[in-house]
Amino acid sequence: MKFFSGSGIFIILISLFYSCRPVQAKHTVSAPQIIPRTEWNAADPRPFKQHQPLRVTVHHEGTRLELSDDPAKKIKNIQTWGMGKDRNWADIPYHFLIAPDGRIFEGRNVFTVGETATEYDPEGHLLITCLGNLEVQEVNPQQLHSLINMIAYVCNTYKIDVQTLATHKDHSKQTTCPGKNLYVYFQNGYILDEVKKLLK
Ligand SMILES: [Zn+2]
Repeated sequence: MKFFSGSGIFIILISLFYSCRPVQAKHTVSAPQIIPRTEWNAADPRPFKQHQPLRVTVHHEGTRLELSDDPAKKIKNIQTWGMGKDRNWADIPYHFLIAPDGRIFEGRNVFTVGETATEYDPEGHLLITCLGNLEVQEVNPQQLHSLINMIAYVCNTYKIDVQTLATHKDHSKQTTCPGKNLYVYFQNGYILDEVKKLLK
């Protein structure tokens, strides 16, 4: 007894193939390459308050860093200083750090509250910092490009509304962070527009 014709089996196989494919997310942003903590010789973090990232807040680190300097060494120094007796923080204050050459480094766990030396409460903020003093140094095109990619990536990955995008000085009266040379790209809407293009 013949149950299926050849073409019937073909149709069943095709429909099985399509029904087994994973459902594609609507807005996918390709994951940028993120250099892990081991690459900058991170110390283990101390236990710290958990949170859900709900908004993106951009900083500059605030001390000069040249293209020829080693960003990994700088990041290690930031962690050592922050976890030392001056600040006694649980870990490096930022969730991600972007070097002048555009390389992106992993900071603290995204689900732990970041740190600040100013008056705003960083709970719910995903903190991305650009290394360098962008009040006096220009923003390198590669650094700006990585920042835009990273903002789009975290908005997509953690389901953060892109309209929450702001900078440190938008939340605090005590700072000029992220520096005027980076802030200009927030004021003129360039960064938000480019992020929106990636999320389309
Ligand atoms: Zn800041």
